[in-house]
Amino acid sequence: MSDEWTCPQCQSTMSTRSAGDVTVHQCSACEGVFLERADLGNLVEAENDWHRDSGPLTQPLPRISPDMTAPPPSPRRSARSYIESLFA
Ligand SMILES: [Zn+2]
Repeated sequence: MSDEWTCPQCQSTMSTRSAGDVTVHQCSACEGVFLERADLGNLVEAENDWHRDSGPLTQPLPRISPDMTAPPPSPRRSARSYIESLFA
């Protein structure tokens, strides 16, 4: 197995990066983001850690589920959550 992932949407090569314990695959063409399902537990922990280390202006996400979708595009300033930073 290689480390190359193919985007399920546009078949372009996805780049792989890690954010803490979580592996994130991001398409270079359509910027789709794929999170490995097995990492969802780590994602929850990372989210909690992120808020612990962040200022009072952030709010925890209400719920994280396997079928969650990427947040809509928005002006990138500072991420309001760890999850959001993954899609930045
Ligand atoms: Zn793509």
